[in-house]
Amino acid sequence: MREPVTAYVGLGANLGEPVRALQQALAALGGLPRTTLVRHSSFYRSAPVDAGGPDFINAVAELSTGLDAPGLLAQLQALEQGAGRERPYRNAPRTLDLDLLLYGAARIESPALTVPHPRMRERAFVLLPLAEIAPRLVTPSELAAVAAQRIAPLPPTSLSA
Ligand code: AMP
Repeated sequence: MREPVTAYVGLGANLGEPVRALQQALAALGGLPRTTLVRHSSFYRSAPVDAGGPDFINAVAELSTGLDAPGLLAQLQALEQGAGRERPYRNAPRTLDLDLLLYGAARIESPALTVPHPRMRERAFVLLPLAEIAPRLVTPSELAAVAAQRIAPLPPTSLSA
């Protein structure tokens, strides 16, 4: 039996009902085999970066998981598929996007998986929610570098629907 690993997953959606999609995805993450949802950030609204369509709703989740990294990625992709995600073209708007940001201290470079996620440090919609739940993993200078990107916490009233 492998030791559980702390993993961070970035969630994003900008089609359909994105708040509901993220709430359902968080519940589904906690229901993955050998996996616990430890905590998650607030929800944020962000401008699309390298993608089209309406604003995104984003969050970051901390998992404790006995899955290995490829196994966790496969589960994330199954959840994306289950949310009806289609990929008509690269960076198309999506009903649910799940990125494996960090898997313990692992560094992985395989054709299917790069960890830490190669673009996470460039993205306010990853760094702000990650800093909220794991402040030691994000430096002030990293936050300063993405300060021009438009992002704001979602008011709690938008969460009940
Ligand atoms: P995207 O369309 O942005 O969700 O990218 C999905 C593709 O990125 C899939 O083919 C994955 O195998 C690959 N990928 C590589 N590294 C990661 C990662 N850390 N998290 C999620 N997908 C990844």
